[in-house]
Amino acid sequence: MMKLVLNCFFLFILSFSLYAQKTPELTIDLSEFSFIKTIDSVNTEVGVLKDTIVPLDIKADYWDSTVYNPYKDVNFKFPLQLQFKDSTYYSPIGKNKVVTSRYGWRRGRPHKGIDIDLVTGDSLFAMFDGIIRMSRYTSGHGRTVVVRHYNGLETVYAHLSKYGVKENDTIARGDYLGKGGTSGNARGSHLHLVVNYKGVSINPEYLFEFNDQNRIRANELWVTKKWTRPIVHNSKRQSKIQLLLSEKEAITSLIKQQSIYVVKSGDTLSRISKRNNVSIASLCKTNTIKRNSVLRIGQKLVIEK
Ligand SMILES: [Zn+2]
Repeated sequence: MMKLVLNCFFLFILSFSLYAQKTPELTIDLSEFSFIKTIDSVNTEVGVLKDTIVPLDIKADYWDSTVYNPYKDVNFKFPLQLQFKDSTYYSPIGKNKVVTSRYGWRRGRPHKGIDIDLVTGDSLFAMFDGIIRMSRYTSGHGRTVVVRHYNGLETVYAHLSKYGVKENDTIARGDYLGKGGTSGNARGSHLHLVVNYKGVSINPEYLFEFNDQNRIRANELWVTKKWTRPIVHNSKRQSKIQLLLSEKEAITSLIKQQSIYVVKSGDTLSRISKRNNVSIASLCKTNTIKRNSVLRIGQKLVIEK
């Protein structure tokens, strides 16, 4: 008896679904119902979260051992969210790290990594688990090992004297990668360490502390464009670091603060610029005036920082 009821029910469902398929008018626009919208948006958020937490198949896309940057046509949205499962990284060298040059502008060119002092022959180690995407010579970087990690980052170890890994090797954090040296365009032996996300370099000091603690600055970090542009950093000193720990903080940091300055007797653009810690170029741009514009006493200028 039970079986018969089930069969009837099954037939009913089948015929109904066939009927529904043939009659498109039956389709209900689900977006009309606000409760469904809510569920929908929750699902979307869960989807995003999953993408960042579940280890990605990191060899699925843009996996090319022959080029340093296989991501040339990729655009991604800032601020960028980065996640780390641990609170420390494995030190790429086996002794105290002495940073000899930082991420930033250097001798009229961008320096897209950080230089750590070493002696030729010193062993180098992977900072995180990952897969070797590249282990070959490139002009400038010399013998180079590029490791792709499961959070989407790549770490690059350049100027090696000897390779210790092959392309497509799966490695764990702390695994031996090769020996440091001076290959390529290097002034003296050092490790040129680069941290890239989809081909874009990130100032490594925004993510990591380069001392004996080997600390990752936070498990979740938001990266604004500023941290990917060597021109706004100086290779001779560490930039002031203010961590952005949520998307909201990252977006707020991008909103420029405006204030009004009233021109006083004796003011010049250069004096206003110095007193308000804002460049003359920025003053001119914000107020659509020229460097040689005459200022009136009582004139209001917008100061944007
Ligand atoms: Zn360097």
